[in-house]
Amino acid sequence: MSDLAELRVKLAMSSRMLFNAGLVDYSGHISVRIPGSDHLLILPHPVSRATVKPDEMVITDFEGKLIEGKYKAPSEVNMHARAYKARSDIQSVAHLHNHMVATLSMVDKPFYPATSNPGAFFGPGPLPKYMDPALIHTIEQGDAVAKALGKADAVMLRGHGSMVVADSIEWVFAGCVDLEEAAARFYKASLLGPVLVYSEDETQRVMKQRRRDSVVQKLWDHNVAKTKLAGLMDGI
Ligand SMILES: [Zn+2]
Repeated sequence: MSDLAELRVKLAMSSRMLFNAGLVDYSGHISVRIPGSDHLLILPHPVSRATVKPDEMVITDFEGKLIEGKYKAPSEVNMHARAYKARSDIQSVAHLHNHMVATLSMVDKPFYPATSNPGAFFGPGPLPKYMDPALIHTIEQGDAVAKALGKADAVMLRGHGSMVVADSIEWVFAGCVDLEEAAARFYKASLLGPVLVYSEDETQRVMKQRRRDSVVQKLWDHNVAKTKLAGLMDGI
């Protein structure tokens, strides 16, 4: 299987896994940089995230222009495109309308690392927040989201959701799962009293234990199994 064919398969798998985990519904998308090019591979706009097939993925450039594919790209493709343009270390991007992160983004209160497993991929300091609630349709808006992301692994989009970035599809998938779980725990804990947020030293020590390929692979394999059990991996 060629590299591109393998990326198409992994992207379709991860989309169905995000759907099965309740992290995307009819919208939300994941993409991957095509190595050695100024192009990205992303889910098409109209196809269900629960059933998308490898050969339905579309290719765009870093200005969001469709290069190849029988469908149009998602309307927020420039969020992905400009993240790749801004940071050469980013190999995969996901945009989610994830419920708990979107909820936390709606309050004027920082979302700090405060839970180890999962949720240890973020920090130190609070998760950055992009304040404009409009959808990301232009290159300029995509650049502004990339600027708000800075060097972080994820950015909250106020009243909207989040963008998660990493150097592989597997790490982005793990980041999506962990971020939503961390947000759910943070929300529940904050109802009980002031949250005992991690100090920078605590965050670093926990991240050292948790930021491992073996942990990410375990999370990936578990979700492959769960998604197969749900009958959502047919045709891949
Ligand atoms: Zn969106």
